[in-house]
Amino acid sequence: MDYDVVIVGAGIVGLATAARLSATRSVLLLERHDGICRETSSRNSEVVHAGIYYPPGSLKARSCVRGKELLYARCEKHGIEAPRVGKLIVALDAEEAQRLDELEARASANGVSVERVGRGVLQARGVPGIEALWSPSTGIVDSHRYAASFEAEARAQGADVVFETEVLSAERVPGGFSLTVQSRGEQLVMRAAAVVNAAGLGQDRLSAAVGIDVDEAGYRQHPCKGSWFTISPRHRGRLDTLVYPVGSAGGGGLGVHLCLDVGGGMRLGPDWAWVDGPPFDLRVDPGKRRAFWEVGRRLLPWLEEADLSPDQSGVRAKLVPGPGLFRDFVLAEESARGLPGWVTVAGIESPGLTAAAALAEEVEGLL
Ligand SMILES: Cc1cc2nc3c(=O)[nH]c(=O)nc-3n(C[C@H](O)[C@H](O)[C@H](O)COP(=O)(O)OP(=O)(O)OC[C@H]3O[C@@H](n4cnc5c(N)ncnc54)[C@H](O)[C@@H]3O)c2cc1C
Repeated sequence: MDYDVVIVGAGIVGLATAARLSATRSVLLLERHDGICRETSSRNSEVVHAGIYYPPGSLKARSCVRGKELLYARCEKHGIEAPRVGKLIVALDAEEAQRLDELEARASANGVSVERVGRGVLQARGVPGIEALWSPSTGIVDSHRYAASFEAEARAQGADVVFETEVLSAERVPGGFSLTVQSRGEQLVMRAAAVVNAAGLGQDRLSAAVGIDVDEAGYRQHPCKGSWFTISPRHRGRLDTLVYPVGSAGGGGLGVHLCLDVGGGMRLGPDWAWVDGPPFDLRVDPGKRRAFWEVGRRLLPWLEEADLSPDQSGVRAKLVPGPGLFRDFVLAEESARGLPGWVTVAGIESPGLTAAAALAEEVEGLL
């Protein structure tokens, strides 16, 4: 065997896993692009989620809460910006306030501290609404530096991190797996005792390549695009916390909300739309501006339509074909499918950035 473990995909999950596993194993991390985090891991809201929304006991809930702790500790150690700006989940009327009850109960079941705040607190913060849940442990993070810290750690521990190398196919061989890769115009074959499929949106293609029936396994992905609009810098500093609606949480995401970044920028988004691909059309449709403004001004009454301009988009690796359906993150060691040592990481939509370090621990446990 050339390596103990080959990890496919240098998004946040592959990177965190490489850092974790390279402490005790020989690791090769393969990425088809020319650097780390060129897909979903650089196209998200950079929110450190608290763990409020997910069903108690689910991997999403557990890995979010644990991942959040690991993230803050790591950022503190490495001097990476990860301010706990907190988050308000705002109810605009009595019906929405009832939904706050459900979220409060769920947060408590997940071990997440939240506080109920009234109109006075919202007014003082310049936010409309009759009531809100205040989540003090929610934050934002410089996600690129966070990801780069895992790459540096993996390399320092002896891992090989190789870019512009795509895994084309994989097969079981005695004692492990043989991978055929396309690397800078050359086709190569390499062997590893274990493989972690952390290929994000490429997960189902790689699963199929090793012979997994993705429909039978429930690994078929249904990509769901989210777009953001930037808010004019003239409003910088108006708000110092994240502001989410409570009303629309049953859709493809948490509802279009106010995002802040560590540089002080403000964005609205992401929305959701199930899309075809790969390949994906990542352009943001400027024609959505009116719809974003109409949703956004409910929470940000000072917002004018002209304040919004198209920002970026990202694609969620969902395992469900439409809104309102729940699937947990999937982490599976595939012995039961005759592939001992092959680990599938699937459906890592939000809160995957927050959860990544905890997912890496789980992958290590599976191996
Ligand atoms: C709109 C949106 C908003 C989000 N907001 C948040 C948020 O605020 N907070 C949060 O915690 N999470 C958020 N997320 C979720 C988070 O971004 C993802 O869960 C996380 O980035 C997934 O990381 P990953 O490593 O699994 O996948 P990716 O980042 O997609 O990495 C997979 C990598 O595998 C590579 N690859 C694929 N196939 C192959 C192959 N055959 N050979 C070699 N390389 C391959 C790809 O090039 C890619 O780089 C959001 C996601 C979206 C889309």
